[in-house]
Amino acid sequence: MSEHRTGAPGRVKEVTSLANPLVKDIKALALKKFRDQQNAFMAEGLKLVIDALDLGWTIKTLIFAKSALGNAAVEKIAARTVALGGDVLEVSEKVLTAITRRDNPQAVVGVFSQRFVPLKDIRPKGNDVWVALDRVRDPGNLGTVIRTIDAAGAKGVILVGETTDPFSLETVRATMGSIFAVPVAKASPEAFLGWRKDFAGTVAGTHLKGAVDYRSVDFGNRPVLLMMGNEQQGLPDNLADACDKLLRIPQAGRADSLNLAVATGVMLFEIRRGALKL
Ligand code: SAM
Repeated sequence: MSEHRTGAPGRVKEVTSLANPLVKDIKALALKKFRDQQNAFMAEGLKLVIDALDLGWTIKTLIFAKSALGNAAVEKIAARTVALGGDVLEVSEKVLTAITRRDNPQAVVGVFSQRFVPLKDIRPKGNDVWVALDRVRDPGNLGTVIRTIDAAGAKGVILVGETTDPFSLETVRATMGSIFAVPVAKASPEAFLGWRKDFAGTVAGTHLKGAVDYRSVDFGNRPVLLMMGNEQQGLPDNLADACDKLLRIPQAGRADSLNLAVATGVMLFEIRRGALKL
């Protein structure tokens, strides 16, 4: 467990006005432009914030509802935030609702620094499994995939091309905290294809025209890179051609395809079958 000290201890402030500049900055995190400008994102819930600090994420600001005053766990995390150099805001219900854009908001919200793992630092070994998502569009899909990667014990995700933001509130919510446990990389298709050349393992693509039943493959004891296609278009030819195999999940019934996150879950639990024990 490591905690990154940011220097001087932080501040504790009571805020009730929506016009407060600190509140305005946090509300702006709803937009990607401001998340990127501030290199920040928001995560809701006491347990998530505790987990994030335990995993060494840098907290910029902790926001908690006045109604949580006196709650020992909240006061402990507030003290921890101040010691780490973060700010603590004690706010009204009205301010929390505005920040999180939802009624009945969680009593605790954390603002953290964003973190991407550089592609060049990903060097899979053993039976590591990584997932590459081609131009994923839907925040709920991305969050669900990140949560599923965590649950299956895969290593992380590489976002290829123009994608939805892993640090949007909607994606972070759908990860249910796994955003703090699953490394995320992003790459242009060209950079990804360059990196793929040195990937010493099986590159398994999934495709509706795949010739191989995913259940017939022996993934063995070597790294696997699972490549999943865009929700509307599937894998483009340049990515499909870079795969060692194109696998299909056989279907019955009338649906043309599975939802991206569901297909990723089916594949991950098959690839990780030997590593999962009750
Ligand atoms: N219309 C798209 C197409 O033609 O590929 C459908 C894409 S599907 C919603 C999103 C991704 O999930 C696909 O690119 C593929 O990676 C995966 N997928 C969904 N159903 C699948 C299946 N039955 N077999 C293999 N992959 C599947």
